[in-house]
Parts: sequence; C-alpha cells; structure tokens
Amino acid sequence: MEILQDVKARVYRFGNKVADGNSKMKNLLGGKGANLAEMSAIGMPVPPGFTITTEACTEYNLLGQDAVVERIKAEVESAIANIESLMGTTFGDKENPLLVSVRSGARVSMPGMMDTVLNLGINDDVVLGLVKKTNNEQFAWDSYRRFIQMYGGVVLGMKPASKEDIDPFEEIMEHLKDKRGIKLDTEFTIQDLKDLVYDFKDAVKKQTGHSFPTDPWEQLWGAIIAVFNSWNGDRAVYYRNMHNYPADWGTAVNVQAMVYGNMGNNSGTGVCFTRDAGTGENVFNGEYLINAQGEDVVAGVRTPQQITKLGSQRWAELAKVEEADRAENYPSLEELMPTIFKELDSYQKKLENHYCDMQDMEFTMQDGKLWILQTRNGKRTGAAMVKIAMDLLKEGKIDEKETLLRMQPNKLDELLHPVFDTSALKRAHVIAQGLPASPGAATGKIVFFADEANKFKNSILVRIETSPEDLEGMNIAKGILTARGGMTSHAAVVARGMGKSCISGAGALKINYKTRTLTVDGHEYHEGDWISLNGSTGNIFEGKVETVEPELSGEFGEIMTLSDKYAIMKVRTNADTPKDAKIARNFGAQGIGLTRTEHMFFEVDRIKAMREMILADTVKGRKQALQDLLPMQRSDFEGIFEAMQGFPVTIRLLDPPLHEFVPHQLATQKELADEMHISLQAVKNKVAELEEFNPMLGHRGCRLGNTYPEITEMQTRAIIEAAINLKAKGIVCIPEIMVPLVGTVKEFEYQEQIIRSTAAKIFEERNDTVEFLVGTMIEIPRAALMADKIAELADFFSFGTNDLTQMTFGYSRDDAGKFLPIYIEKGILKVDPFEVLDQEGVGQLVKMGTERGRSVKQHLKVGICGEHGGEPSSVEFFYNTGMDYVSCSPYRVPIARLVSAQAAIKATV
Ligand code: PEP
Ligand code: MG
Repeated sequence: MEILQDVKARVYRFGNKVADGNSKMKNLLGGKGANLAEMSAIGMPVPPGFTITTEACTEYNLLGQDAVVERIKAEVESAIANIESLMGTTFGDKENPLLVSVRSGARVSMPGMMDTVLNLGINDDVVLGLVKKTNNEQFAWDSYRRFIQMYGGVVLGMKPASKEDIDPFEEIMEHLKDKRGIKLDTEFTIQDLKDLVYDFKDAVKKQTGHSFPTDPWEQLWGAIIAVFNSWNGDRAVYYRNMHNYPADWGTAVNVQAMVYGNMGNNSGTGVCFTRDAGTGENVFNGEYLINAQGEDVVAGVRTPQQITKLGSQRWAELAKVEEADRAENYPSLEELMPTIFKELDSYQKKLENHYCDMQDMEFTMQDGKLWILQTRNGKRTGAAMVKIAMDLLKEGKIDEKETLLRMQPNKLDELLHPVFDTSALKRAHVIAQGLPASPGAATGKIVFFADEANKFKNSILVRIETSPEDLEGMNIAKGILTARGGMTSHAAVVARGMGKSCISGAGALKINYKTRTLTVDGHEYHEGDWISLNGSTGNIFEGKVETVEPELSGEFGEIMTLSDKYAIMKVRTNADTPKDAKIARNFGAQGIGLTRTEHMFFEVDRIKAMREMILADTVKGRKQALQDLLPMQRSDFEGIFEAMQGFPVTIRLLDPPLHEFVPHQLATQKELADEMHISLQAVKNKVAELEEFNPMLGHRGCRLGNTYPEITEMQTRAIIEAAINLKAKGIVCIPEIMVPLVGTVKEFEYQEQIIRSTAAKIFEERNDTVEFLVGTMIEIPRAALMADKIAELADFFSFGTNDLTQMTFGYSRDDAGKFLPIYIEKGILKVDPFEVLDQEGVGQLVKMGTERGRSVKQHLKVGICGEHGGEPSSVEFFYNTGMDYVSCSPYRVPIARLVSAQAAIKATV
C-alpha cells in the first residue's frame, strides 16, 4: 500500500508570513489548514502553527495510534519549536508559556461535526505563568477551567452518559452556582474558578480512573488523536453519509498558537468587512473592543466601537451621540491606534484583492501586535451581492461571466418585494411557521373572508385554503396565509403571480370561520388583530412589523442586461391580466408562456354569464351565455396583446373543472336561481351533478373543450378577433393557442380542428388574417410518452410541470401539504417536488417528451410553464434539456433570466 512507504511530509507549517502549503491543497490540508497556509503565504500575520495532513488521519485509521505517532512525532516536535521561536514563548513554560488550539478541518466544511480543544498546554504551574503574563488572574483561571472541561469532554470522553443526563462539568458548575446563589458563569470569583479546576480534575479521576494529564505534550498527543477519532464520531459519520463524503477523506489537524485580546489596554479583538455587507458600498467597516476576547464582540454586553472614523461618525449619528462624546468615549480604531489601523487596512485591501471578493475578517491585537485570525467570503444581502459583483467588474477584478456566476439567483428576490425593517424584525415574536410560498414581507389585520379583505386598510387574508372565488380578496389583501396547501396550492400560485407575500400550509393554525378566530398553541387571535408574514422564510409574527419598500438599485438593471447578453434560453411570464403582463415586461419577460383564461371568468361581471353557461340545459342556451362572455374575453386579450407588443402570447383554453364556477352556498344559489328565473332545486341539482370525487383527474382541461366545443369556439374567436383588431391599429401580436391536459392524439386533434376552423371562419368574415400557432401542454405522463405522435399535429409544446409532477408522483396538488412536510422531515424526499423539479423522475418525462417531439419536428418550439419555471435548479435543467423558453410568474422573471445566463455560461466551461 502506497501510504506505507514513508516518503511524504505529514506536517505543514505556517506563520511568519510564509507557509509550506497553500489554498489549493484542501484535500491534503483540509479547508481550514489550506486557508491558514494561504493567508500566511500572502503575508498575513496569522498566529503560527501547523497542519497534520488528512493522509496522516487515514494512516491512523488503517494502522492505529502507535504507528502514526511514530511517523509524525519528529515533525510535530519541530513544528512546535517553530511556533515557540516565532511567538517567543515556550510550550509548558512556567514563566512565558505557549498555549495552542487544536482543531479539526476536513477538505469541506463540516460545521460543528468534529472536535476542537482550546488553551492547550496549561497546568497548575503554567496557569501561574499565564497570570503573570496577562496580569489577569480571573482570565487565566477561567482559561484553565475551560480547558479541562473541553479536554475532558473531547479527549477523555467525559460526556453525559445519556441524553437525559447533563454534562458532568456543567453539573459541578451548577452545583457551585446554587451554593453561591449566582446565575451566570461570569459571576464566578477567582476562588470559585480555582475550586472548579480542582473539582473538575477530581471528577476526571473518579470517572476515568486516571489523573488529568498535566504534561502539555501528553495533552497535545491526546488532542491530536481525539481529532483523528472525531472523523469517525457519530455526528461526523452521519453528516458524511448525508452528503456522500467518503470515509477515506479523513480530517486534518490544525495546531495553532493561541493569541489573546484581553491582555490589557494594548490588546483587543474585532470583526471587519472589506465592503458593506448590507448595502455593498465599497467602504471598509467593522467593530472592535479593547481588552476583550472574540465572543465579547458578539455577546453584546459591551458596546463595540467602529473601526474607521467614518463608520464611527455614521454610528454616532444613528445613536445620537455628540461628536465630542464620540471622540472621547467611543473613538474608532483609526483614531485610537492609528498604526495598527493602517496595518489592518493594508491587510483588508490585500485580502480582498487576493480573493477578489468581499472578505469577512477576524483579528486580535495582543499587546500591540496585530494578528489576523480568519478571513472568508462575507455573507451579504441581495442588494450587496449585486452591487459588490458589479463594482468588482467595473474595477476590473472579475470578468462578466464571473460576475453573473457570483449571483445567488434566489437572493434577487429580496430586491423585488417589500422587506421587513431589520430592527423591527429583531423585536418580533414568531407564532408559527408555514411554507415560504411567495416571498416578501406583509403586515396587516386578520380577515377570514376574501370578500371582506377591504374591511381594513391593510389586511392579511387568513384561510384554511383559498379557491378561485377568493381572487379579488387576495388581490386586495397585503398577504395571504393558509393552513393547508403546498407550494403549488392555489394560494401559492396566485400569490406568486401577484408578487404578494404568502405563507401556505401552516399546519399549526386552527382556523374557525364561525367564531372568526385563529388559534395557535392555545393562543387566540381575532379578526382585526395585526399579524405579519415573511413569505421568504415562512415565519408568521404576532402584531405589526414595519416594512420598507425595496430599492431597485442601478446595478440590478445592469446585472439583468448582462444576463441577457449571455442567456440563450428565453424567459416568458405567466400572466392573466394586462397589469401582470406589464409588470413582467418591466422585469424583462420576452412574451407570455401561459395565460390561464379561467381566471378571467371569476371576475364579478363575468361569473354570472359563466354560471349561466354551465347551468344551460341546451347547446343553444350555452351558446347564448358564451356570446355574453365573448366581448369580455376579447377585450382581455386585446389588453394582454397590447402589453406584450411584438412578443408571443400563449393563451390556454379553459382548464379547471366546472364545479369551481358554481356557487356552493345556499344564499348565492338562491340569488342565481332568481336571476336565471329557475328553481333553487334546479341550481342545487346542477351543483350536485358537477360534484366530482377527484376534480384534479376529472372533467377539466381539454375534456371540457371536447365535451362543450362551444367553449373552445368562443375562446378561439375572442383570441383571433382581438389579434385582428390590434393588427388594424398597427400592433403586432403573435397568439399561440394552447390546449390543456392532452393525453391522447385524438383529444388534441379534435381541439385543433375546432380552433383552425373557427379561425378560418373569422378570417373570411373579417377578410383579414393573422398568424397563430396551435400547440399543447404536456402535463399528463401519457402525453410525454406519445410526444412524437402529438408533435405531428402540434406547433409547440409547453410542459405543465405542476400537473406532470402531480400525475407522475400520484400526489394530489391540493392534498400534498398534509404529508410532504413529514416526508421531507423524514428524508423520504429531499425537497418539495412541486417546488423543485424532480429531475431524476419527472425530468425523464420532460427530456423524453422533448426528444420525441423533436424527432418528428426538428425545430419544435418547446417551453415550460409550471411553477418550476422560476426555480433556479429547475431552470438550469430546462436549459440543458434544450428548451426554447421557461415561463414563470412576473416576479420570478429576473431570477429566471439570470439563471438562464448562468446555465449557458456553465455549459461552456
Ligand atoms: C401545470 O400543470 O404545470 C400548469 C402550468 O397548469 P396549471 O397549474 O394551471 O394546472
Ligand atoms: Mg396544468
């Protein structure tokens, strides 16, 4: 076996601005070790240390402790000597001790999965040296008791015996706190800490049968072996299996000198960013504390000060602190320690240039010496993401393709919807969680009925679930909350289309329409009570949380223009109204991929005619009612065509089951009976007749148009006449008439004949023509299987991945909310397939349908209009399938445009 041949170095040193390794050696040195080496090599003052390679870990797993220690002993000893000489301290020394940290570090980050030991090298003698050196007895003894606690847990196995037991060290501390009548760790006196050290060691002896190791070298070897072992610990194995990381990767071990920011007023610690992580502004910024450790900055007990003078002045303005007071009591690092600041400033520039991205850095000043502890690409808001990447492009640091690849598509969402004020959010109380169905922040008073949405100026519509009848109220409400339904439930789809915040499937909500109450965890909320929704996270808050309008910065537009330069696959929108069509145009949609015509029938003035059509007993009666609908449909289409001038518009013929259009409440049934001069019983009979056991698989889609051809005729007439009318005004429109829910060739053929013959009749009547296409949705698995036959007749395909997912999985779109969350929790499914396309399964049908269709019509136009058309990983899949376009709700258009570009770029590299 190759690794038995002892040829390679197993220990890589770093420090003093040089290193044996570099950032490319992640497999050998682990992510952390490689980065520490890189930082050191480019001249950052990182506390010196060394990395024991992942290969040594693998050897350990194969050969055991003795063999490996023998192989690495000399290298480790010499590397410790190197740290000693660089730090001017000595490992185990009573006067001037070197303490080290020992950390794991696999080639990929596995947060919290493996072990760390800090302050290693301390014992009863060394602690006295530390007291002298730091002049801080409290700190020295606290470090000692923390070390025993960590070492005891990680290396000596002093962990709770079962999940009901508490940590043996915590138990001792709790006991002492009770005895002393104190609550917090920070309240321990020096004597308490000394007692704890004694008691901890005693507990170790009792539980393990051995004394706590006092020899720093014994401590070090114990910790190194423990880190190796943690690679095979339960947590790590679980995490590795979850992510398919092979067991033979192993972990590296990083040993590094400890540095302290709490050694007096010439020491301190801080966190800084090379640019503003909130806005993206190119200003160096951050916070620091004098005489403090890293956790003090985040703990919030002391107010951290700003690093730059500019930042400090901005802070003072917000905190209403006078300039004189600021300069005196809260000076910036720039003012207080100008030399260190200059050094830090030069490092931040260097690091950003080196990594070509905004850096989030941690530093410590120990007795006037600056140490850089860590740097990483900083987390940022969507706005900052866009601005930083565009600025880096303009600064010539990254190229256009890289700029686009730097975008996290879903983060663009933040730029498109109202957002909660961050400080208000901090104070808000979460009462429950649901699915983040449609992003954005909404705050308003609870209403339980759609027709009461305008009862308050700002309302949140709270429903068990919504139906097409609720459309108007949904439009009025600021946000929508449902107890049932998934990511493609009616509420979710409609809300996304409206760009309205929506949380669906919040199962913890008990809604009582009768008492007009909403109960969560025993707490009752009434109509008129304020609640707030974060549609991006699914969090539901009690009360009013202030929102702010999003800012569409100039860089956002620039990113979109750049996307279009690289995108090949086009992006259309799903829009049912001229208003939505205009919004989508503004977001750069290149046409409409789906107009759901049924939504047009629900508007108040149309539903009546629609109902008359449904209730008609004869073809003649039906035609008469349709005649009333015709002008309304025609003017809808004219509006949409006009908004989409020159771009193709796909209009889908009526799809939903007819029972959705008839009234189910007695009062409305009576009203309808009176209006139509028929008996209430006749209305009731018809409603009962339309009732279906499974409406999703029932009388819908082209089954309607094939049983009631008059509907198809009327809709075709409205579309073609609208196009001819606009043509007369010089407006070019390209209608694409789409037949829904086709499963057999004949179904399509019947519809196609009606459409083409109706169009031909109109051309004759009007003595004019327009070009149009007749195509079909592919949303039933059988249609994907028969795609070659269907393509012989159809001008285009549009995949309806909502229904295709429903029918491929056999999960009802309306009921999946009951079990999908549990499936995801249990890992039966990784994600909701209605949200993220199941590429492995449903994706096969999409690929097959496209290929079979194009096998008979090489240039068959193929698109997709299911909800997946706005989901990044799915959009990338559609590009790779060779689709001509994706169609998504207006507010997803910018995201799809970006992903289309990213997919095209990725395909070339
Ligand atoms: C689909 O099924 O994917 C689709 C777009 O149609 P609908 O959601 O209206 O059923
Ligand atoms: Mg469908």
